[in-house]
Amino acid sequence: MSVHKPATIAVRTGIESDTQFHAVVPPIYLSTNYGFPAFGEVPKYDYTRSGNPNRGLLENALSELESGHGAVVTNCGTSAINLWATAFLGPTDIIIAPHDCYGGTYRLFNTRAQKGDFKVFFVDQSNPDALAEALSHKPKLILIETPSNPLVRVVDIEQICRQAKEVGALVAVDNTFLTPVFQKPLELGADFVIHSTTKYINGHSDVIGGVIITKIEQHTEELSWWGNCIGATGTPFDSYMTLRGIRTLGARMKIHEESAGTLLNYLIEQPLVGTIYHPSLPEHPGHEIAKKQQSGFGAMLSFEFTGSFEQLKQFVSALKLFSLAESLGGVESLICHPASMTHRAMGEVALEEAGVSQQLLRISVGLEDTDDLIADLNQAFAQVIHSNQEQC
Ligand SMILES: *Cc1c(COP(=O)(O)O)cnc(C)c1O
Repeated sequence: MSVHKPATIAVRTGIESDTQFHAVVPPIYLSTNYGFPAFGEVPKYDYTRSGNPNRGLLENALSELESGHGAVVTNCGTSAINLWATAFLGPTDIIIAPHDCYGGTYRLFNTRAQKGDFKVFFVDQSNPDALAEALSHKPKLILIETPSNPLVRVVDIEQICRQAKEVGALVAVDNTFLTPVFQKPLELGADFVIHSTTKYINGHSDVIGGVIITKIEQHTEELSWWGNCIGATGTPFDSYMTLRGIRTLGARMKIHEESAGTLLNYLIEQPLVGTIYHPSLPEHPGHEIAKKQQSGFGAMLSFEFTGSFEQLKQFVSALKLFSLAESLGGVESLICHPASMTHRAMGEVALEEAGVSQQLLRISVGLEDTDDLIADLNQAFAQVIHSNQEQC
């Protein structure tokens, strides 16, 4: 286990590992196949679907960052979740997932359950009675997503892992929103950590990728086997790029979070802003749990826009430094309307059950100067308020 802090691991991982030319930064290996040293002698890497040096370095980096045993890097976050479900679930097995999980995760579990691959219960995991009821059905797997997307709800990882152990369930935490810089689920009792590395881990919005990190050797072997079997593994180029992105993870997360704090202080004062969702706020229901299990509050926030729906559209269109786009965790600030974008696949009923309203806006705070970000929000709010006054 590493003695270093995440920022140090992120910078140093794989540096000076090249034995051929002693390149400081590890080179990229695009070759799909590798020679057998002799007849019947299987090399460490033989074919890139099953393994590749760049993917191996990235797997080591992510495993070390999460204090895990090993990792399987996949071609996206969704395929990491699918790999996990495929490896451990049969037709009679049950998986418990959050009722407000990532929209693509919801669609994946729902569709596969309808095909009869396994059974899924979507549960409000912050409700002890609902969770206890679901656990009484003896699930095989539990997925936790904390903070959740888009409402940034926080659930108690340690508590849920304890309850899961009692019924023999394995727990994975989707740690995409916080990264190991701010939350270490394996140390809180989880069996797996999953990331969409597309987000903060790569951090530059130019690679789609995912990973599942394990705590024990048996799971590393099972998931590696399944990853190769179903062809879910990541490519060398994506792995190279993601490792490059990881080097600045510590520095990026620090500024993302600081800037989120600055924006929150501004948003709280705005007349068109209603409830704000962010675990740093004392009135946030998960504030105490977040303080206990996280070492930072993260830079994803959402809020209810209290003007009309037309004004919401006007506000979003007036912004220049917040791109109207899906995804999150990149250097650039983003604004998203979950109900019509990231979460539209859930359908109206599930959206309502998850508490995702038509007035909800989600912000991924980027690394631009906060003076500029606030000036941009300010001019957009002013446009809405002005045109409203003209109409009256
Ligand atoms: C984006 C995301 C995923 C899915 O990852 P992809 O890389 O888009 O497949 C899963 N969970 C969370 C929390 C996400 O934000």
